[in-house]
Amino acid sequence: MKITIIGAGIGGLTTAIALLKKGFDVEIFEAVSEIKPIGAGIILANNAMQVYQKLGLEKAIQMQAQQISKLTVADANIKALSTLHLQDFEKRYQTANFGIHRGKLQNILLQQIPKEAIFTGKKLADFQKTDQGVSLHFTDGSSHLSEIVIAADGIHSVVRKKLFPQSKIRSARQACWRGIASMTIPERYQHEVFECWGKGERFGIVSIDANTIYWFALRNYKKDLRKEFADFDITQLGENFHPFIQEILAATPKEKIFLDDITDLSRLPSWHHQNICLIGDAAHAMTPNMGQGAGQAIEDAWVLSEMMAKEKTHLLAFEKFEALRRKKVDKIVKMSWLVGKLAHWENSVAVSIRNAMVKMTPDSVGAKQSEAVFELAKLE
Ligand SMILES: Cc1cc2nc3c(=O)[nH]c(=O)nc-3n(C[C@H](O)[C@H](O)[C@H](O)COP(=O)(O)OP(=O)(O)OC[C@H]3O[C@@H](n4cnc5c(N)ncnc54)[C@H](O)[C@@H]3O)c2cc1C
Repeated sequence: MKITIIGAGIGGLTTAIALLKKGFDVEIFEAVSEIKPIGAGIILANNAMQVYQKLGLEKAIQMQAQQISKLTVADANIKALSTLHLQDFEKRYQTANFGIHRGKLQNILLQQIPKEAIFTGKKLADFQKTDQGVSLHFTDGSSHLSEIVIAADGIHSVVRKKLFPQSKIRSARQACWRGIASMTIPERYQHEVFECWGKGERFGIVSIDANTIYWFALRNYKKDLRKEFADFDITQLGENFHPFIQEILAATPKEKIFLDDITDLSRLPSWHHQNICLIGDAAHAMTPNMGQGAGQAIEDAWVLSEMMAKEKTHLLAFEKFEALRRKKVDKIVKMSWLVGKLAHWENSVAVSIRNAMVKMTPDSVGAKQSEAVFELAKLE
């Protein structure tokens, strides 16, 4: 049976690899005409790495990534408020969290898929269900008939918009810059995600190799991100933080800075309809505050491929897939939104209280939360 995947992002590529491993034939249709290494860095959390371990990709990723064994929330002056040590999880799951350049991850994934299975420059415009399957129509005027479609076409999914036209993208009114700085990284930040919370803004750093920092900076905005930050000088992102943050910004080439709006997706009534199934951001885009959007797409890929191999019909597979994944994903979407709002309080008094609260929260709370995120679905 041939399975059609729309979108060659992290979710689509991982799904293709997982399905190939189960003996399915796959084809991927991707909108861009050339899949180039793009973006800044990404955190692959322990749950994502457990999936890549099952898919035999853990070593290849590890070799090009930096292990992260601590998660720290700090104040604007880089004074730690809370630190979560991850070694217990590393022992339990025999893998860790990793920071990696998105382009490197993309290359590793692409190498696992036969070139002839990927069709680029194929932007899906529309589709119709027919007696034979799904008739896909692309913006270049071509069409293709598919038996089963996995839509991994991201937060602006054409497939989702047609199946669930009531679905809504929600903005957190936070602008997010991401960049890559080349610099010698002090030893203490080498294996740590370090996030500083200020007033209505935050700055995070992740080392992705010994001499490269992936950073993200977020600021509240009122109405129109592009207008409000039209003449914005990137160095201003560090003005309310410790001088180390300014050093990182100074070591970042302008062309390696990306600006995005922080958004998520309203809860869909279902992730599938007849012979079409949505995965990743197309089904459940979340704000990046827990570093889990790709992690959840990667978990989708694994669970869906397992169900496709196990169940008698694809309909049953889609139903089981959603039943196994829904509760966890819904929780992370909610939690991620709340964390993002808490991190962006603007009032000075409220910020002092927040910081004191973060400091007083026992480590066991963070550990419990991480446990729920890192644990994969039990398939039996
Ligand atoms: C600022 C920021 C930081 C983040 N950091 C992290 C992190 O550290 N860790 C983490 O786990 N997650 C993180 N995420 C989330 C993560 O990037 C996404 O959840 C993840 O990339 C989703 O993968 P996907 O394959 O579902 O969608 P996408 O990556 O969006 O891929 C969709 C693919 O489909 C293609 N496509 C779109 N429309 C069509 C069409 N009509 N026809 C054909 N192809 C189409 C696109 O070109 C693209 O290749 C972050 C997100 C943001 C915004």
